[in-house]
Parts: sequence; C-alpha cells; structure tokens
Amino acid sequence: MKEFHNAPMPPRPRLQMTRFPCDMCSKTFVRKASMPEHVELVHFSDKTSCPYECETKIDSEAVWVTHLESCESPKITANSECVCQFCPGVFRNTLLRIDHHLREHGEKSYSCCVCKGMFTLPNLLQKHNCRY
Ligand SMILES: [Zn+2]
Ligand SMILES: [Zn+2]
Ligand SMILES: [Zn+2]
Ligand SMILES: [Zn+2]
Repeated sequence: MKEFHNAPMPPRPRLQMTRFPCDMCSKTFVRKASMPEHVELVHFSDKTSCPYECETKIDSEAVWVTHLESCESPKITANSECVCQFCPGVFRNTLLRIDHHLREHGEKSYSCCVCKGMFTLPNLLQKHNCRY
C-alpha cells in the first residue's frame, strides 16, 4: 500500500544570518567589524580582572596584559585575525592587539581631549562613555 503524501511542506527555516560572537560575553554581532569595537569599548576599558573570568588577581595594567598573553581559559577562541594593520604583529586575541595598537602606534590612535582615553578607531572616540 502506497503512503499518501499530501502533508504541506514545512516552511523552510530562513537561513540564519551568521553572527559574530564576542568570546568574552554573550553578545553577538551582525557585522564582523562590530566585535572588536565592542571589545575595545566594553572589555578593554576594564583591566581589573581577566575578561575570560579567570580567578587570577590582577592589580595593574601590566599584570593584565601579561595574564592575557598566557591566559589558558578555554573561552579564548583561536583568532587568527588579530593582525596589526600597521606592522606584521599578530596577537592571540583582540585585547592584546588593541593594547599593542595604542602602545606602539600612538600616532594612529584617537585620543579624547577630555578624559585622555585612547582609541583605535574614530567612532569609538564618539561612542565612549567619557568619564567627565
Ligand atoms: Zn563582549
Ligand atoms: Zn584569564
Ligand atoms: Zn603594530
Ligand atoms: Zn573621553
């Protein structure tokens, strides 16, 4: 006996837009370029703890940078795209690339004349929460 197939086709699920996740929090982004902007505004401005939630005690910016260079958190996704735009430097995560950019390429950074904050992109200068 032949089965009678007249069930309506289930609606095809709409192709999900690829979203680009932040590996430090649960945010995702439609545009790939939004991710490093978010990282710089939200995670780079907090240098008091590991953004990957390690228990390590961090009491200075230097300790924070050193920790990120060797952080073993499973949340760190291998990101091969953390390449400096201005030199051949490659970094294991976006935060270290931002730190390098501001430190080594100060002439290619944007600084706020009010809070003296430094940013890698002009639109971050406009978006940041100025502390004054
Ligand atoms: Zn995030
Ligand atoms: Zn860590
Ligand atoms: Zn560089
Ligand atoms: Zn400012």
